[in-house]
Amino acid sequence: MTSTDSPDCLFCKIVAGSIPADIVASSDTAVAFRDIAPKAPVHVLVAPREHYPDVPAFAASDPAGLASLIALADGVASELADGQYRLIFNTGPKAGQTVFHVHAHLLAGGDLPGFA
Ligand code: 5GP
Ligand code: ZN
Repeated sequence: MTSTDSPDCLFCKIVAGSIPADIVASSDTAVAFRDIAPKAPVHVLVAPREHYPDVPAFAASDPAGLASLIALADGVASELADGQYRLIFNTGPKAGQTVFHVHAHLLAGGDLPGFA
């Protein structure tokens, strides 16, 4: 556990390895694991090892960490799909955020539906 871990946070526990997950890639700063309820052929969550509640907090405190997370996501998209993907950071409950440890949804592996 690091000083920024949040003891009741699900993704802190997954990053620490105390709750199992299907981890597909990791780096010094971030972990990529399959979403338990996939919405696309490839649906991977990419979360920093450090706890931040959402992407603006993460970007403000650690912009290099955010860039590193995106690089890890990009690599996973090339490994598991064809390198084309959608990256979503749900931010706030009205936007669908349910886990308040920042994470990117990496969606890939097929023609993704549009937003319209
Ligand atoms: P959010 O709604 O916060 O943007 O995304 C949270 C995501 O975490 C959801 O897509 C949900 O399916 C996923 N999720 C929730 N609990 C677990 C879990 O225990 N393991 C994994 N791998 N994914 C989870
Ligand atoms: Zn956390």
